[in-house]
Parts: sequence; structure tokens; C-alpha cells
Amino acid sequence: MPEDCIFCKIAKGNISTKKIYENDLFLSIPDVNPRIKGHSLIISKKHFDTVLDLPITLGGELLDCIKNTSLKLIDEYHASGFNLINNNFDSAGQVVNHFHMHILPRKEKDALGSIF
Ligand code: 5GP
Ligand code: ZN
Repeated sequence: MPEDCIFCKIAKGNISTKKIYENDLFLSIPDVNPRIKGHSLIISKKHFDTVLDLPITLGGELLDCIKNTSLKLIDEYHASGFNLINNNFDSAGQVVNHFHMHILPRKEKDALGSIF
């Protein structure tokens, strides 16, 4: 694990943060710089640089975290939909080099508009 990895510090509890949901392998937290109300992140508890480094055996736990976090955010922010985004490597806009997924709760005609 890189010494200065901010998401490793959060996952280890060295930096306190609100937890939306967690299981043995993944954790969801609010994004510190939300692009829209409720913007949250799923991070792996162990350090992996990108999705390509995640063992496929972790897929079930990841899906569990995605589903439970999304349902909680839909409920809390009265959303009618959500986007899942995963940036990998610099060219795709990855800034924090620890695997994470963005979850963006969405409403009809909200400020984000169409992402693609
Ligand atoms: P990326 O561009 O790497 O996919 O997105 C990284 C995300 O991590 C950004 O949306 C940024 O706001 C968020 N972020 C960076 N540092 C922290 C932090 O210390 N805590 C939390 N909760 N989010 C962070
Ligand atoms: Zn890390």
C-alpha cells in the first residue's frame, strides 16, 4: 500500500468519515467535493490501483456495495436514478490511484444533465 494513499487511510480508519455502507471488502463514503448532492464513492478496503488490479473473486462484494449504497442514496436524496462511474488511469481522469467508483444520485432535469 502506498504510504500516502488517502483512500487507504480512510479505509483503515486513520481519517474519520461518514460511512454510507460497508461489507468485508468495500466501503462507501460521501465524496469530499460532490459534483451533485449525494455524490458518493465506493472504495476497496485493500489498495488496488485500478479495476484491472481487482481479483474477479471480489466482484460479488463489489456488487453488494454498489446495490446497497445506491438504494440508500436513492432513498436519502429522493433520487429517481443514478450514475456509476469508474475512472482508470490519468488519461481517463483518475486522480486518486486507489480503486473507487463514483455514485451520482440523479433526478429528472437536474444540474448534471446528460453525462454521455
Ligand atoms: P477520480 O478523478 O480519481 O475518479 O476521483 C477522485 C475523487 O475523490 C474526487 O471526486 C475527489 O473529490 C474525491 N476525493 C479526493 N480526496 C478525498 C478525500 O480525502 N475524501 C473523500 N471523501 N473524497 C476525496
Ligand atoms: Zn490505497
